[in-house]
Amino acid sequence: MSDASSDLLRLAAERAIRYREDIGERRVAPLPAAVEQLSTLGGPLPETPQPPADILALLDEIGSPATVATAGGRYFGFVTGSSLPVTVAANWLAAAWDQNAALYVMSPAAAEVERIALGWLLDILGLPAEAGGAFVTGATMANFTALAAARHAVLERVGWDVEGDGLFGAPPITVVVGAEAHTTLHKALALLGMGRNRVITVPVDGQGRMRSDALPEISGPAIVCIQAGNVNTGAFDPAGEIVTWAHDSGAWVHVDGAFGLWATAAPARASQMAGFDGADSWATDAHKWLNVPYDSGLAFVRDADMLRQSMTATAAYLLTSAQRDSMHSTPESSRRARGVEIWAVLRALGRAGVADLVERCCRHATRFSEGLRAAGYDVLNEVTLNQVLVAFGDDDTTRRVMAAVQDDGTCWCGGTAWQGRVAMRISVSSWATTEDDVERSLAAIIRLAGEQ
Ligand SMILES: *Cc1c(COP(=O)(O)O)cnc(C)c1O
Repeated sequence: MSDASSDLLRLAAERAIRYREDIGERRVAPLPAAVEQLSTLGGPLPETPQPPADILALLDEIGSPATVATAGGRYFGFVTGSSLPVTVAANWLAAAWDQNAALYVMSPAAAEVERIALGWLLDILGLPAEAGGAFVTGATMANFTALAAARHAVLERVGWDVEGDGLFGAPPITVVVGAEAHTTLHKALALLGMGRNRVITVPVDGQGRMRSDALPEISGPAIVCIQAGNVNTGAFDPAGEIVTWAHDSGAWVHVDGAFGLWATAAPARASQMAGFDGADSWATDAHKWLNVPYDSGLAFVRDADMLRQSMTATAAYLLTSAQRDSMHSTPESSRRARGVEIWAVLRALGRAGVADLVERCCRHATRFSEGLRAAGYDVLNEVTLNQVLVAFGDDDTTRRVMAAVQDDGTCWCGGTAWQGRVAMRISVSSWATTEDDVERSLAAIIRLAGEQ
């Protein structure tokens, strides 16, 4: 490589390192002026080449101040992890490798790293060692992938080849979801031709858990979707009872555990995951609680053959190998080796380190709920995981407090609607959050709420 290329990569690393060094002290939401500056990245398409170092400088000087500090410790919006330094470092190296993870022959390194990471994931998440896995972009695609395997399996049992013949004229599939199923689960059902709305919806309790006393009668091909970790409350569906009921009817059980699945990794939280290991497929995110860079989601399917048969691409030029060719387990063909960061974080933290990461986030959430309650505000959920819902009075007041918190910049929390009320949601999902971050954020929220 030329000296200029090496210099460019060094420059990029230096700028990136400076960005991460400053992240702890900067405001979380960018200033409106910084966002306005983004238009200077535009203009007409350049007619001639420009020096790469200038491009990088522009991106850093204009782009960096307009980022949201999700990599820091005081971003509590949605369910958003940061990225551990070891995962960013591994991501840089993997970007330099520029491997295509589609086929073993394209990159034995990517294939082996992912095979090893998959084994470790199944272990730490308490899932069957023989399950198949897919490294996809996020939990939306993980739900999609696992539900494609489910669709294949339940129709194969009644003699229908859904990949070959499609859904036109196929026996109908009964799909059961909870009233609090994540919106992306409905999106996955829509993409698979099973219909966003063509579902039986099971009512939920005050925490958003499916009510096991309100399960429908089902027969024939059926898929039951349950949730580990409600996006608002963090609550878990009663998996044991639902899995038994569903399997008695021959249904496939799929788990959306985008962040909740990680409760298994923390001994003090793991009891909430009881019964979920009896399901047939699971979706989770690595870019949320495992704190790896985007985009990184995971689908696991107990019967690896069902995953393969739903995802296999056939073409003579692809050849087949005795090795694990991951494109036959994923919707994508060519893709980056996103297993590298997962391998790195599991190797770096080990079982104890992941347990500590999960537990620490849960403890911070508990501290938020105690601090807010002590200040006289309504915490709307049972805080047993990393999610806190708080209301500051009527809906308008809560909206004003949220706007003030986002504007103030000490931390960032988003809003949600919870069982008829507007609530501010605090999700603690970042390895970088310290006790000091929690205290500073709590103080800012309480001060701003007092001013509304
Ligand atoms: C975040 C989330 C999803 C979607 O995950 P993406 O990574 O954004 O695709 C699905 N289900 C639940 C419960 C989630 O929290």
